Amino acid sequence: MGKIVDMLFELKEYRYVKPFRIAHNVADSSTNLEVTLILENGVEGKGEAAPSYRVNGERIETFMSLRDFILGEIKGLDVRNYRVIFKIMDGLRCAPSVKAAVQYAVLDALSVECGVPVYQLLGGARDHVETDKTVGIGTLEEMVEEARKLWREGFTLIKVKVGEDLREDIRKLEAISDATKGAKYIVDANTGYTVKEAITFAREMHARGIDVVVFEQPLPAEDIDGLKIVRFNSPLPVAADESARTRYDVLRLIKEEAVDFVNIKLMKSGISDALAIVEMATTANIGLMIGCMGESSLGISQSVHFASGTGVFMYCDLDSFLMLEEKEFRGKFRRDVNKLIPT
Ligand SMILES: [Mg+2]
Repeated sequence: MGKIVDMLFELKEYRYVKPFRIAHNVADSSTNLEVTLILENGVEGKGEAAPSYRVNGERIETFMSLRDFILGEIKGLDVRNYRVIFKIMDGLRCAPSVKAAVQYAVLDALSVECGVPVYQLLGGARDHVETDKTVGIGTLEEMVEEARKLWREGFTLIKVKVGEDLREDIRKLEAISDATKGAKYIVDANTGYTVKEAITFAREMHARGIDVVVFEQPLPAEDIDGLKIVRFNSPLPVAADESARTRYDVLRLIKEEAVDFVNIKLMKSGISDALAIVEMATTANIGLMIGCMGESSLGISQSVHFASGTGVFMYCDLDSFLMLEEKEFRGKFRRDVNKLIPT
């Protein structure tokens, strides 16, 4: 039987190898919540929440107080009926990353119970995914050096953070592309530009022949009208990240024809909304990428299995575990340079 009898919550702090700077924000560490579900036969399922105040409005300090409430709602339910538990967790709007961790722990427990990896429970569309790696905001020289290092390591897709200074950003991308000829780039402004700046940036990239495959979240999260203007005036594909947290956000983005891509993060939407977004976006012919917050290897495992199982992501940005100091690798996947292989 796959009945839930207990659930443990544990906080863990991970330091970034070096401070990770994006537009108007810098992170030194990520304090994550580890969820362990225990079934009546002793099987355990694990999930991890990496909270974000900036994107989700979450505070880790509030998480421990949710444990008793959530356990009260799901205790005695069978993980084989996981849609029932997913629906209950959809009510937890105050903590999307906790919803993700509990929903994933349910799938992980089911996976152990059945002897089938989660990516195959989700469809087994692919046996691996390829990730980019991110260059945070720094001086031009620091960013070029970091990008060159990644390119030499074998990362063919490099994500570059921009959004603090348009002219400087254009110079940085120019220098990075000179140093990493043949690479493709995801450029992420993390809400830092105005409409005019975003269109200028996109046109300058295009004019210089810089191979930007996705231009992520140029505008503030709520500015969907502006995003649409950028989309129809940008030669680069425009993606929503901060604007696309739940299935309802994505429904609106599709209706408004505001984006070419959506960046799904399990930490914003949980597994249930991520599944809904996958179906909506593929039906509407919107491109998909998958990203992360500050997940450790345990948390990134969730997205590796989700992305491999569904097989719909054109680009994967699952690099946070490479940026954190972690004593022990605990993901259910292997890494071969940029390849992440679910196990
Ligand atoms: Mg982003």
